[in-house]
Amino acid sequence: MDRMYDPKSLKAEEFISHEEIMDTLAYAEKNKDNRELIDSILQKAEKRKGLSHREASVLLACEDEATIQRMYDLAEQIKKDFYGNRIVMFAPLYLSNYCVNGCVYCPYHAKNKHIARKKLTQEDIVREVTALQDMGHKRLAIEAGEDPVNNPIEYILESIKTIYSIKHKNGAIRRVNVNIAATTVENYRKLKEAGIGTYILFQETYHKESYEKLHPTGPKHNYAYHTEAMDRAMEGGIDDVGLGVLFGLELYKYEFAGLLMHAEHLEAVHGVGPHTISVPRIKRADDIDPSTFDNGIDDDTFAKICALIRISVPYTGMIISTRESKAVREKVIRLGVSQISGASRTSVGGYCEPEPEEDNSAQFDVSDNRTLDEVVHWLMDLGYIPSFCTACYREGRTGDRFMSLCKSGQIQNCCHPNALMTLKEYLMDYASPATRQVGESLIRSELPNIPKEKVRQVCEDHLEKIEQGIRDFRF
Ligand code: SF4
Ligand code: SF4
Repeated sequence: MDRMYDPKSLKAEEFISHEEIMDTLAYAEKNKDNRELIDSILQKAEKRKGLSHREASVLLACEDEATIQRMYDLAEQIKKDFYGNRIVMFAPLYLSNYCVNGCVYCPYHAKNKHIARKKLTQEDIVREVTALQDMGHKRLAIEAGEDPVNNPIEYILESIKTIYSIKHKNGAIRRVNVNIAATTVENYRKLKEAGIGTYILFQETYHKESYEKLHPTGPKHNYAYHTEAMDRAMEGGIDDVGLGVLFGLELYKYEFAGLLMHAEHLEAVHGVGPHTISVPRIKRADDIDPSTFDNGIDDDTFAKICALIRISVPYTGMIISTRESKAVREKVIRLGVSQISGASRTSVGGYCEPEPEEDNSAQFDVSDNRTLDEVVHWLMDLGYIPSFCTACYREGRTGDRFMSLCKSGQIQNCCHPNALMTLKEYLMDYASPATRQVGESLIRSELPNIPKEKVRQVCEDHLEKIEQGIRDFRF
């Protein structure tokens, strides 16, 4: 029986209705050369109010080169208007790769007997986080497999407490985002109380039948429980949630429509869309050969997806990891990505000691192996401001308060000075002399771009104080 599509429903199969996605794809295919419709959709997008999954799907289906270029130009403009030239930096921290699930695309799946299983003790975490602080990181995303015995919620909570407590030299982790398996409202409430930033959970695929095949065993097999996780997280008080699909598992047009429907659902039910969307693509790893998944997407399609996400949900941050190469990162940063990881280790305990090859505990192979200093330098050479800002979360600007700041157009008076001040901290405490030189001149040239004079003066004053050794200023 057909399920009714209802973005307000709390049932996965109603807010991600398969029928609605199929109708959307048919509508998009039928209209992919409909100039009049495409023009009207692009005109709507130019108003920066976002697009529905149907409208965005028509643009995704369109193959006309000149129109695609228009989408890219618009995405670039929206990126500039909303995010300026700032790129927020973060690093993943793998706590444990014990996992009871059977996800066929992930080397941590329970049946993989030749991967090294590791779980960080609290002492290991201190060492890892100290190493991350010594690079200059302020924002982490913690990752752990699902395993009620090895990685219970108490372990995650204790680890978060440990991470926030480590103060090494001028270092501090100021925001811990959490990427753990779907859980109960009660556990989400505990995570909220532990002071997490964003709760991130990738859907992997919105296609229920494929989802069930790709997750043959373990609690993650339950499509509805997984898909409804964000609603439980929000019920538990977490108002910043991060969505994502693993591109390559299913047909990308299907995933794209599903992703936007999920965003529309969160907005319809909770009044706040997703805080971030991540766009991982399937990668080679121990026991995983990406060529066995035949829905892989090329770099151009990937860029088009990133541009269209930017156009469709202008207020949602977009994240890209070191799964992608320097060249791909460069392209999609321009089109809309607002957060990137740098110098990531995707193995458990990888920041302190690089792993011997035979002891591989990594979740995927990293394509971008540069140090954080190199990434920061590279971004500045491209004209971007690497930002270590965590201010919103610490000022309580989460969920709808964050969104209203975005929508008021005041973000430039907040993000921009915060980016400059946190970059200054980075330059003082961690950068190589060459990076510092580039950074200092970037800060000087970017100061006049703070719109409000008062804010600019305060920022200048704070920059001087940072020079004198004081830390942690924010707007
Ligand atoms: S994707 Fe997550 S849940 Fe699945 S096997 Fe890997 S770690 Fe476990
Ligand atoms: S001020 Fe808020 S939105 Fe802007 S970069 Fe900082 S944390 Fe992000």
